[in-house]
Amino acid sequence: MVAAKNYIAGEWVTDARGPEVRAPGNLDEVLGTVPLTTTAEVEAAVEAAARAQDGWRHLSGVERGNILFRAAAVLEAHVDELGALAAREMGKPIGEARAEAARAVSIFRYYAGEGSRAIGEVIPSANATTLQFTLRVPLGVVGIITPWNFPLAIPAWKMAPALAYGNTVVLKPAEWASLTAARIIELIGPLFPPGVVNLILGKGSVVGEALVRHPAVAGISFTGSGDTGQHIAQVAVERGAKYQLEMGGKNPVIVADDADLDRVVELTVSGAMRSAGQKCTATSRVIATRGIKPRLAEALVERVRQLKQGNPLDPDTYLGPVVSAAQEEKILAMIQKGRDEGARILAGGGRADVGLRGFYIAPTVFDDVDSRMTIAQEEIFGPVVAIQEAADIEDAIRIANGVRYGLSASVFTRDLKTALLFVDRIEAGMVRVNEETAGVELQAPFGGMKASSSHSREQGRAAIEFFTHTKTVAIRP
Ligand code: NDP
Repeated sequence: MVAAKNYIAGEWVTDARGPEVRAPGNLDEVLGTVPLTTTAEVEAAVEAAARAQDGWRHLSGVERGNILFRAAAVLEAHVDELGALAAREMGKPIGEARAEAARAVSIFRYYAGEGSRAIGEVIPSANATTLQFTLRVPLGVVGIITPWNFPLAIPAWKMAPALAYGNTVVLKPAEWASLTAARIIELIGPLFPPGVVNLILGKGSVVGEALVRHPAVAGISFTGSGDTGQHIAQVAVERGAKYQLEMGGKNPVIVADDADLDRVVELTVSGAMRSAGQKCTATSRVIATRGIKPRLAEALVERVRQLKQGNPLDPDTYLGPVVSAAQEEKILAMIQKGRDEGARILAGGGRADVGLRGFYIAPTVFDDVDSRMTIAQEEIFGPVVAIQEAADIEDAIRIANGVRYGLSASVFTRDLKTALLFVDRIEAGMVRVNEETAGVELQAPFGGMKASSSHSREQGRAAIEFFTHTKTVAIRP
């Protein structure tokens, strides 16, 4: 049982205990408490980050990188523990959670290397004696607001580049991922000069809001829902802060008649059901051409029925609980809406009894889904997949593009022409051929089109675009 606190200027503060955290996979297990943080503490965290900024940005990139290498090593020594904590706190099966912890390690290591890579280019000047070049400088204090679905990787892929490029950070994790975030900071915080890394826990509507509104916060990097993202964007625009939003998806898998059926089934079920469908890149729609659709629907249902659902701490579990009562309610309401609007349930369709008190929803497959239905348009963020029929590939791409999101999309085909048509026409930031919609690589740019993101990219070298300003320098002797 952990009483999580805020970490400000290198000290653990806040004794005002707030709500209890219970394991979503076993509500009889109390994991700890999260503090009821006040806006005064947000103020203190931002001030600490602002005070630490000058010293941190004036270390060399190599020196900052060396600290990030040490952070990676400390996290690596605790991968099992972090994976188990994340699995307990937000319900992701332990195998996935451990892999996520290992990924957080790789992310820190990748950005540690950034400290010794080039941060600008020399550009010829019209004047022969002028040296013209670009430089990257940090934004200053960066507010990082993260969701609960990747409680280890998302804080890592925002904090590591922010720090590598010389920013100081205030992290506000999701309420449902507070204990995991607090443990990350407990492990790596002391490696940095006081104030470089700060953590504030508590309600997004109170402390997240105060962070976004704070005039000394120069940049906000956010992942979460579209509504919160849009609100943050408005506040940021009003006060001229830089912002980056990663929001939802309604990710389609297009299946052509010539697809390898076994591969489609395995990767579609993985994309839709791992993490109980709580990924922004989760497979949400399966759009199949007529020749393969009946066989595919049958095979998907058969595979879904074999999935082992249960305690996320059991290494054999494929599908755990969803994160909270609110998410459970939202997903069940969506399933009901699918029924009411005329879609046909082939598997699942309600709560699952796994012998534990928790938020378990049976893996659900809908057929006869029409593009006008809510379950074909809105993000569900649960273990639910909707099958739609298309006349041909062009029709499938049209259906796939007929939503407001554009994060990830896959096609399964053996035909290069079909693959290339898809790559050209699909409205998605992450475009996949014979791959699942989820599962992106940390060294490659990540982000979406349309309502899925604010059009910036995270991860890989793309992160430098958000976390720095460019200075164009011209020097004439
Ligand atoms: P939110 O967008 O509310 O939460 C994301 C983060 O924003 C959390 O840290 C939250 O804090 C914080 N936050 C909430 N309100 C504010 C605010 N006014 N100012 C600043 N920060 C704020 O998402 P939910 O957790 O409520 O999930 C709802 C839906 O969002 C899901 O069903 C799913 O559809 C989508 N979602 C998408 C994710 C993605 O990866 N793209 C991830 C998570 C959710 P707190 O937790 O304390 O409220």
